[in-house]
Amino acid sequence: QFPFGRRLPCDIYWHGVSFHDNNIFSGQVNKFPGMMETVRKITLSRAMRTMQDLFPLEYNFYPRSWILPEELPLFVAEVRMMKDSNPSWKPTFIVKPDGGCQGDGIYLIKDPSDIRLTGSIQSRPAVVQEYICKPLLVDKLKFDIRLYVLLKSLEPLEIYIAKDGLSRFCTEPYQEPTLKNLHQVFMHLTNYSLNIHSGNFIHSDSVNTGSKRTFSSILCRLSSRGADVKKLWSDIISLVIKTIIALTPELKVYYQSDIPAGKPGPTCFQILGFDILLMKNLKPMLLEVNANPSMRIEHEQELSPGVFENVPSPVDEEVKVAVIRDTLRLVDPQKKKRRDTHLIFPHLHGVLIFFFPPSYHVMYNTEKKVKLNKITNPSAILCCRCQSLERAPEASEELPDAGPAAGPEPDAPKSPEAALPSLCLKQVFPKYAKQFSYLRLVDRVAALFIRFLGVKGTTKLGPTGFRTFIRNCKLSNSNFSMAAVDILYIDITRRWNSMGIDHKEPGMCLQAFVEAFFCLAQKKYKSLPLHEQVASLVEFCECHLAALHGKRLLWGCG
Ligand code: ADP
Repeated sequence: QFPFGRRLPCDIYWHGVSFHDNNIFSGQVNKFPGMMETVRKITLSRAMRTMQDLFPLEYNFYPRSWILPEELPLFVAEVRMMKDSNPSWKPTFIVKPDGGCQGDGIYLIKDPSDIRLTGSIQSRPAVVQEYICKPLLVDKLKFDIRLYVLLKSLEPLEIYIAKDGLSRFCTEPYQEPTLKNLHQVFMHLTNYSLNIHSGNFIHSDSVNTGSKRTFSSILCRLSSRGADVKKLWSDIISLVIKTIIALTPELKVYYQSDIPAGKPGPTCFQILGFDILLMKNLKPMLLEVNANPSMRIEHEQELSPGVFENVPSPVDEEVKVAVIRDTLRLVDPQKKKRRDTHLIFPHLHGVLIFFFPPSYHVMYNTEKKVKLNKITNPSAILCCRCQSLERAPEASEELPDAGPAAGPEPDAPKSPEAALPSLCLKQVFPKYAKQFSYLRLVDRVAALFIRFLGVKGTTKLGPTGFRTFIRNCKLSNSNFSMAAVDILYIDITRRWNSMGIDHKEPGMCLQAFVEAFFCLAQKKYKSLPLHEQVASLVEFCECHLAALHGKRLLWGCG
């Protein structure tokens, strides 16, 4: 909605679902191009697999996964092999349809052969994953954690994590999976949207009881039982940073396609929902990443059969209002101006207007906090009670050996922000960049890929671009002819395109390029571990390209 007409640019654009408007030339958009595609179950699993191949120990927080239907034979073979080598292993697997949400279409199996019996795999690709059988239980119930993460910038990478999150509980006491209880969704799936339909669901006015609680209330309980809550937070921060590092290569490809470098365009930020399961030993495991986490702060209550009413949900309000309020504070364009000029504006200073499709909008005023003007769609609601809420106890989340803090700069003494609660969003990157930079290897492969894409607005590499990459990086020689290069390109591209996620554009997608790059690295540096092979090849390519660039500059001068 554009109340001042389409020609007036906005400071901040708030899109409901995805980045979808290529006619924005300035300001900030609350979605990254391609985020929805990047965090789909299959794409996320592929990205995690690539990182697990490179850094198996660092990425052991994501359950072993296979992509269906293409990896069904591999799934069957690997499970058979593991069972043969360890007959006491009695695994359970969880099958999750790609693009599904809220537990839709999810089921548990004990054996790979059960997949075929359920049919429709061909029509609906899915991920099958090792089921975590020993989750941490509270009150005998399984629960998961929803943590909000702000990706404030992709280049340079800036990540913030909310200091509190939600814990969503199952509504049947947990038992390890057996053939008898496999189908009991209220025992095994923590989705709010499913458990709300259980007669046992408890709506509570308190944030530390009921079927949805704050994560901080769980931490308090764990801490009182003597658990190392500091270590848990630092493991969670690592999990979040590593996951985002796995996602950035793909996101950068989408970004340059929608917002090409050198052309006027907006910058982007996005609030992501991380779903995390704690194992009995307190190890956090990533379940999935949501590009559009629900920001709803009400729930439906059935007054009488068939008659529903929306009532406030204190626990949602406690966590979500703070996340949106502080996201707005962090991306506030006036803040930078304030810092730059050291001026303090009275009254209407810092008014930003946001537009929420389809028909509600929110005025954000640094004096009056957040004021909701009109709500017609209850699926994404902000509310004005944030400043009156009590703060949940903050967890201490420092990572060991962290570099110097690079958190948000302190506010000017008399800033209007002084009236607001302290930020609930904690900067973790670049704060901890030093510890994680070595993992950003695929990012550098993606930079090579993007460099050779050629045509602006594309996400796939043509055969000529691939040949130019090989030539400029001097990767072809008597053992690896240009004919072999073409065969490598055709083989890998054909296979990736036959997997059928994105048929629209011909050519080699990033993941196919990464596979080709790994092949080249293995060929060239046989004896090293994979991550060293890849790092060596990246350096080799970057050196040749830098030399080429130097020569071109020289020729330009001449
Ligand atoms: P959806 O997007 O449909 O919610 P999720 O991947 O979040 O799909 O899975 C739904 C629920 O299933 C999770 O909230 C969690 O309770 C359970 N779950 C998912 N994966 C696993 C797993 N590997 N091990 C144990 N439980 C899982």
